[in-house]
Amino acid sequence: MTSIDWRRIRDRDRIARQGVDSVADTGLRGSLPAPKRRPGKAALRADLAAAQAKITRTIKCDCGHEGTAIVPASKARARLRCSRCGEVTT
Ligand SMILES: [Zn+2]
Repeated sequence: MTSIDWRRIRDRDRIARQGVDSVADTGLRGSLPAPKRRPGKAALRADLAAAQAKITRTIKCDCGHEGTAIVPASKARARLRCSRCGEVTT
């Protein structure tokens, strides 16, 4: 009975004869940058609250019409249309 591991010996011989390629050259996991960390639930909730926050804007039109509008934070700087004359105001 022999306990010679011919597979390992063959591998070692082949590597000595042919050499080996670097794992990094294959473009596999070893060469990639570390995956991004997933943001925590608290951070996601804070982002969501910031995105859903409503802002009260007072809008003055050149026609003299003035009004307040509750808009999402993403529309804080958006141009709105006057409900009386239809002109676009800031
Ligand atoms: Zn107007």
